[in-house]
Amino acid sequence: MGEFDLIARYFKRPSRRAALGVGDDCALLQPTPGTQLAISSDMLVEGRHFLSTVDPRKLGHKALAVNLSDLAACGARPLAFTLALALPRVDESWLAGFSEGLLALADAHDCELIGGDTTQGPLNICITVFGEVPLAHGHSQALLRSGAQAGDDLYVSGALGDARIALEVFRGTLSVPTPVFEMARLRMEQPTPRVGLGLALRGIATAAIDISDGLLGDLGHILAQSGVGATVQADAAAALVASSVTYDSVAGLHGDRISTEQWRNWALAGGDDYELLFSAPASARSQVAQAAESSQTVVTRIGRIEQERGLRLVDAKGQTLPNGYSSFDHFA
Ligand code: ADP
Ligand code: MG
Repeated sequence: MGEFDLIARYFKRPSRRAALGVGDDCALLQPTPGTQLAISSDMLVEGRHFLSTVDPRKLGHKALAVNLSDLAACGARPLAFTLALALPRVDESWLAGFSEGLLALADAHDCELIGGDTTQGPLNICITVFGEVPLAHGHSQALLRSGAQAGDDLYVSGALGDARIALEVFRGTLSVPTPVFEMARLRMEQPTPRVGLGLALRGIATAAIDISDGLLGDLGHILAQSGVGATVQADAAAALVASSVTYDSVAGLHGDRISTEQWRNWALAGGDDYELLFSAPASARSQVAQAAESSQTVVTRIGRIEQERGLRLVDAKGQTLPNGYSSFDHFA
């Protein structure tokens, strides 16, 4: 099978919203009048972001999910995406699975594959996603990292640390009961981008980011770009780890108890969570609750934005904790 048959067979489908989709030199997108385009790219490299043994269906899902998560963090509605793919060889069963997982999530968000590039090479998946955000009286409604204000509440969606638990089980450094592993693995391999929540938070959240490298590291971006500081309740975050199971059902490799410190570490520096971390004025608590309800997403208040720069961690009793957490950095 050649390059063009491969594209036609696995990636070309009739266009719906694009003015022109796969097959010409460029795709054509007609933005809705009165909106801005939101654009983001994410690359997934074998051995770095995923294992060669991962189910291609799940990989297709994840490759798009991490991109949709960026649109969610901006409060943008997904429109379309391009796919640049390097493949070591044409493996039809892999391609069938990959495109199925990818396009199923695309359909769920009404986000159309409009083009890309396909070459031979080490497995590498690069997606660029396009979304739209309305302008209101000439002002962008996009959620930015730079709008957090002293006095705002700090919230996080969903659960934390589950992908990290799955990773540790895969690495052989942790052992958990099968149902816990299955849940954690699903969160690692098929994260749910919080698109509905991002849309519902427009006009309510003052700043937002999606958590990919670990909560504290990503919070650092909001704080730096907003010129503020924060206090985070470490145990409120730790309570969100493996939120569908009880602490007691997770044990270490030799059946030993997981320390409080370990739970906090998974929550605050776990990475690969793809949850939204956002700030909102204390006066908007009921609006935040409404946004959570309308998007059917759990949202938890975990701290507060403050004038004083820097990040302060406190435990459940309000005692200061040392912050020795580090977030993921490809070149660190
Ligand atoms: P060009 O050489 O003009 O860049 P290509 O021959 O690379 O175009 O691609 C042909 C068409 O197929 C283009 O419309 C391109 O966007 C699309 N395409 C290529 N690879 C993919 C892919 N992996 N998924 C979706 N569309 C693709
Ligand atoms: Mg090309």
